[in-house]
Amino acid sequence: MTKMESKTTYLVAEKDLLDVKIVTQMLHTDNHGDVRVEHVSNFGEVIDQLGRKTYDALILGLDLESHEELAQLHDLTLRFPTLPIVILTDKEDQDIAFKCLHIGVQDYVSKNQMNSELITRIMRYAIERKQIDLQLKNALEEADKKNKQLTLLARTDTLTKLPNRAYFFEVTQHAIASAKRLKKSVGILYFDLNGFKFINDNFGHSVGDQVLVELSRRLKEHLRTGDTVARVGGDEFVVLTTMLEEPVQAYSVAKKVNQILCEPLLIDDNEFSMSASIGIATYPEVGSVDKLVQCADMAMYEAKASKQHFACFYTKQLEEKYNTQRQMESALESAIQAGELHATYQPIITAADDTFHVEALCRWSSGNLGLIAPNKFIPIAEASKLGDHLGSFMLREGAKFKARCEARGMTLDKLALNIFGRQFTDKRFAQRLLTELEELELPAEFLCVEITERQMIENLTACQTQLKLLKNHGVTVALDDFGTGFSSVTHLKSLPIDFLKLDRSLTAFIDTTEDNHALCDGIIHMAHRLKMEVVGEGIERQEEFDTLLSMGCDKFQGHLFGFPMSETDLLDHWQSPHIDQIKQLTPSPQTNLRSV
Ligand code: C2E
Ligand code: MG
Ligand code: MG
Repeated sequence: MTKMESKTTYLVAEKDLLDVKIVTQMLHTDNHGDVRVEHVSNFGEVIDQLGRKTYDALILGLDLESHEELAQLHDLTLRFPTLPIVILTDKEDQDIAFKCLHIGVQDYVSKNQMNSELITRIMRYAIERKQIDLQLKNALEEADKKNKQLTLLARTDTLTKLPNRAYFFEVTQHAIASAKRLKKSVGILYFDLNGFKFINDNFGHSVGDQVLVELSRRLKEHLRTGDTVARVGGDEFVVLTTMLEEPVQAYSVAKKVNQILCEPLLIDDNEFSMSASIGIATYPEVGSVDKLVQCADMAMYEAKASKQHFACFYTKQLEEKYNTQRQMESALESAIQAGELHATYQPIITAADDTFHVEALCRWSSGNLGLIAPNKFIPIAEASKLGDHLGSFMLREGAKFKARCEARGMTLDKLALNIFGRQFTDKRFAQRLLTELEELELPAEFLCVEITERQMIENLTACQTQLKLLKNHGVTVALDDFGTGFSSVTHLKSLPIDFLKLDRSLTAFIDTTEDNHALCDGIIHMAHRLKMEVVGEGIERQEEFDTLLSMGCDKFQGHLFGFPMSETDLLDHWQSPHIDQIKQLTPSPQTNLRSV
């Protein structure tokens, strides 16, 4: 289509040639010859002509009597959306006029009332109005596009392009409403990626991001079209599965998610295999979106704690268990502040010399609940963020105890402090511990950090690097409860361990239990070859001590030598038995001190 002329060019479509002539004359009269008027005589020609050439406006003669005419007119406005159209008609029917305007024509003029001034004005206005309409339409379209982009942005996770938390909540809300109507179930699967932190820490965030993107892609590709997968946090995802006949069907989706995650991933020449612990909560068992997500999250922690199941369903009992745990957690937090915790010390006897070495063990005597056993509150501290508070508290107490020993003319050589493996996942933990030692004016050699074998393995890489730093500064390291975890020799080689603590499950009745005898004997030899010292834990009987001593065990800890004691009991009543005394030890008064 071309428009060659600078004159305003009109196309008049009118079958009555006289009318065409009148219109043409009128337009010329009032425009001082600055217009050009062309003419066609039926609708079909209008379309052809408009397809060939561009006009400033169309003057369309219509009888406006049939619906068909209006439909054609509508079609014309759609085909030529930028063309101003003015209807020329015999009728003066307001109703039809409005219909025309509604369809999209700019104006209409009655043949009976037409004069040159009027038609010129109508045409000029029609052209201007069309331009304003078009500008407005463009502006609206632009705003609409921007709005859509903004909505999409507000609903999408920028990295993975999956729906984000807000949108997920919206979709789930609708899913619950439909499930209610159709008497179906809805399932929410909540999970984060096991080992993701390790990838981020060791391979960098860019690799971590690629893992997230690729897994998101796979999840989107392989889950049912009706299911929605969303990213709701760093490595946290949630899947909404709808139209379930039975809530248990959500388990099959969890199985599929697990399969998808387990497929090896190749990123930058590194192969990763991920896994997830999945928490499942279902509607109608749980009634609202907020609660569904919260319950699925709770079930995820249960799945994480379970070594056998990759997925767990939310149940009422689970909620009760978690509520109790939360109550304990806040009670423990207040207990630390209220001074209800105190340190006890259990002596560790050295076979070769009289070194004075103790392990600090925490006790909680609650104002309301009485004495709370360590196996009740220690796991709570481990699972919560209270581990650091507890560790710092015990170290400060240990420093005071050392000073009190010195005031009595005794030297406390070493304090063993139990540390949770999880604490090492904070990269600054070891450095913070060294700073605390400095602030307390304690030599690094004074401290021995004890980590259980299980916790060390669960946080292996984090432990490896941070323990090396501690060791470089002179802190010693003990692998606690050895024999209760994997007892892996490979790990022993790769970790900077000074002391291997044989758990009571290995040392109890070692004199009469052949397996334990053989195991301890072997472990002691191996540990010595690896330049580690061995501590026999939980020694209650003389025979256990004798047997371990004959095997070359270096240190001993247990009720036979002393219970965990308060600072005062230890200083006032306990005296370190010399190894020769222990060799013929019959329970002496000091070894029978009350356990605290
Ligand atoms: P653990 O580090 O292996 O400490 C030795 C545990 O064995 C202590 O239990 C101690 O009371 C007990 N024990 C000592 N001698 C004997 C014995 O001859 N026979 C028997 N049957 N048991 C003996 P406790 O004090 O109940 O502590 C349990 C665990 O809680 C500790 O095991 C340690 O892992 C953890 N724990 C205790 N205090 C703290 C703390 O302040 N911080 C951290 N992170 N963990 C702590
Ligand atoms: Mg210990
Ligand atoms: Mg132990």
